[in-house]
Amino acid sequence: MKDVLRLELPVLPLRNTVILPHTTTGVDVGRPKSKKAVEEALAADRLIFLVAQKDPEVDDPTPEDLYGVGTLAVVKQAMRLPDGTLQVMVEARNRVRLQGFVAAPYLRALGEVLPEPPLADAGLARVLVSEVQEAFERYLQNHKTLRLDRYQQEAIKSTLDPAILADLVAHHATWALQEKQDLLETPEVEERLKKVLALLLRDLERFELDKKIAARVKEQMDQNQREYYLREQMKAIQKELGGGEDFLTEIEELRERIEQKGMPEPVKEKALKELKRLERMQPGSPEATVSRTYLDWLLDVPWTEADPEVLDISVTKRVLDEDHYGLKDVKERILEYLAVRQLTQGQEVRGHAPILCFVGPPGVGKTSLGKSIARSMNRKFHRISLGGVRDEAEIRGHRRTYIGALPGKIIQGMKQVGVVNPVFLLDEIDKLSSDWRGDPASALLEVLDPEQNHTFTDHYLDVPYDLSKVFFITTANTLATIPRPLLDRMEVIEIPGYTLPEKRAIARHFRWPFQVKEAGLEGKLEITDAAIDRIVQEYTREAGVRNLDRELSKVARKAAKDYLEAPWEGVRVVEAKDLEAYLGVPKYRPDRAEKAPQVGAAQGLAWTPYGGALLTMRRWRCRARGR
Ligand code: ADP
Repeated sequence: MKDVLRLELPVLPLRNTVILPHTTTGVDVGRPKSKKAVEEALAADRLIFLVAQKDPEVDDPTPEDLYGVGTLAVVKQAMRLPDGTLQVMVEARNRVRLQGFVAAPYLRALGEVLPEPPLADAGLARVLVSEVQEAFERYLQNHKTLRLDRYQQEAIKSTLDPAILADLVAHHATWALQEKQDLLETPEVEERLKKVLALLLRDLERFELDKKIAARVKEQMDQNQREYYLREQMKAIQKELGGGEDFLTEIEELRERIEQKGMPEPVKEKALKELKRLERMQPGSPEATVSRTYLDWLLDVPWTEADPEVLDISVTKRVLDEDHYGLKDVKERILEYLAVRQLTQGQEVRGHAPILCFVGPPGVGKTSLGKSIARSMNRKFHRISLGGVRDEAEIRGHRRTYIGALPGKIIQGMKQVGVVNPVFLLDEIDKLSSDWRGDPASALLEVLDPEQNHTFTDHYLDVPYDLSKVFFITTANTLATIPRPLLDRMEVIEIPGYTLPEKRAIARHFRWPFQVKEAGLEGKLEITDAAIDRIVQEYTREAGVRNLDRELSKVARKAAKDYLEAPWEGVRVVEAKDLEAYLGVPKYRPDRAEKAPQVGAAQGLAWTPYGGALLTMRRWRCRARGR
């Protein structure tokens, strides 16, 4: 081992840089003490210690402010600039460890030159050299600001000396002060090369990442800028065309509503896409109207809004009794059905829960039972009349490409009720007909099938709509004409017609009090049982009570008119004999058996869904009385 070399020399503190051996660098010296140190060196053998400050902000560094390891350098040249600064060219030679400072008007220290230990593994060093050279080349290619001249590049490429290569690369690389200081404090060559390589590779990775991020940012920016630009241009055009401002606020309002509606994601996307289309349209144009109408539909249809649901059999029983006289079996079956539904709710079995179907003649209370069920479950009620529906589009809507296209009855109903869990009464399902316009029955089948109806597609809406929370009830006058596949899905409850005493009771306890109240004559008008019976027999002929109800309403309204003309004290009682005055001449004669047997006449009985009839057959003519 060589003898240790110790020197006592002036110290030039460096603010922002570490100067590595094997390099020649220009340093600007401005601080008086530093200038003095340089002058001292020039006056002696031109040797000087270059040592980095730990904190570049410190103006008058003391020994504690300096790192312990620096560089021994030769001052090659010094020039005084007009402002007094010294421009110094130094050639850095060796690593030195400062060992103690000496009193002087500038910094002066005793330093020990650190020998470079010989290579421990020449093979490894060779590999490291070529790797560092290769990495540095890429480093230069990818570095945004660092540029070396040809000579400098060549020097690095051609250096075979591992020690020189490590220091040269560290000298040029834009690494942090501490990183460079660490390299300065690593005299072992292989060790130093490894550190240099690691730093290079780290930076290469960073560059790669930066590039990726930059590319992404640029892409985003291009897209945003393009959109912004187009939007601005459109605004300008719309302003020119007039009415633009209103249109723009409208668009913004729509956007707001879409954001806040809480639609399923695909629907929201669809809505935003449509909004984009609308934006590009001429505000008053027919296509803009079509587009806006469509958006309104998407926004008006309930997607999540629901009523809190009650399913309590005892409540339903109470409500059904409150609203309907008799119908004991019917009510019983409804309650059973609901009980099963309640028990199987949420289970897979529900997939096979049949749809309630009330079958019976008009006016027996099918609709009003449906309403009561809805009321008892705290759900909204909506009636859809299917009578005469022949076009599938009435159920499913028309595609938007048609002028004046609208959603079908189902979606229209959803919009009207505004919640996803109403009771829908599909009225007169036996009156559906199918022809070349498509098969409404099969569309309906999809609506009613719990396995399909969570993705019901209306042609107009053009997005799947979930009907699975809707409670469907259907009604029919007869089972005979219900399409078979539909019928198979139904739980049929038959409601036959009423007898005279039943009709009387319904009138007395339900319809008459209601009609009197409607007419504003509560406590002022009464009717006798005989009068009710006469209305049933001579003014109506039906299995249900619809016409009876209408006639009762006529009576009450006529009385109200009388009352306005000549108010009476106390209670007026409508009797059987008064009915002509209220309702005109009777429309029917009651069926009555002939008083005495007649030659050539035979009696027959007939049944129709509208009520029973008596048929009297005579020899020379056959006359059916009744309907
Ligand atoms: P449908 O739907 O079967 O044609 P509605 O439900 O429209 O019959 O009934 C006609 C009218 O008769 C309604 O006002 C209804 O409340 C009344 N009604 C029918 N059956 C009863 C009943 N059992 N008790 C009380 N009112 C009844």
